[in-house]
Amino acid sequence: MNRKGILLVVSGFSGAGKGTLMKELLSRYDNYALSISATTRNPREGEVDGREYFFRTREEFEKMIAEDALIEHACYVGNYYGTPRAYVEEQLSLGKDVILEIEIQGALQIKKRFPDTLLLFVSPPDAATLKNRLVGRGTETMEVIENRLARATEEANGIEQYDYFIINDDLDACVRQVHEIIQGEHSRVFRS
Ligand code: 5GP
Repeated sequence: MNRKGILLVVSGFSGAGKGTLMKELLSRYDNYALSISATTRNPREGEVDGREYFFRTREEFEKMIAEDALIEHACYVGNYYGTPRAYVEEQLSLGKDVILEIEIQGALQIKKRFPDTLLLFVSPPDAATLKNRLVGRGTETMEVIENRLARATEEANGIEQYDYFIINDDLDACVRQVHEIIQGEHSRVFRS
């Protein structure tokens, strides 16, 4: 991959506030580009095709896999999610720092293929906050929420493979912290 920018993967429990964090990061600083994933899950109320996700059928998604149009993909609570290759490659070659907001299986695939990717794990201050954020969002049934919490527990086992663990108890501080981590990375003498 022809790259000048940094590839940054942000994962974290569903409900950890990653979405808000990313939005803030993009609105405050110029050098970030956010990759839009493809998924087979149904749009939530207010979500727009091509903005939150590219909403695709299972057949369409499998075609993208077959054509190697995704740099990673994974199954999460019964649906496919994947990162389209073209946008990421284009933005990196333009010198943008590209953010992927993806779950752990995808994150580890990316790290294996591109070892200098930065992996950040974002966590809410405690498990109760996590549940409240998921329930408060009001977009999912209790069954889906339970599945997501179970999956969150599973994901906690992979945390040691991440480069940074960030507790999102204060949005403003968290945005600055992520930005500083990336700026620090740009100052490294050697990048592979
Ligand atoms: P949600 O359904 O809440 O939008 O996303 C569910 C999970 O899928 C989240 O942990 C999110 O980070 C992850 N996800 C979103 N896009 C991708 C992707 O392109 N690849 C992978 N591996 N995970 C993704």
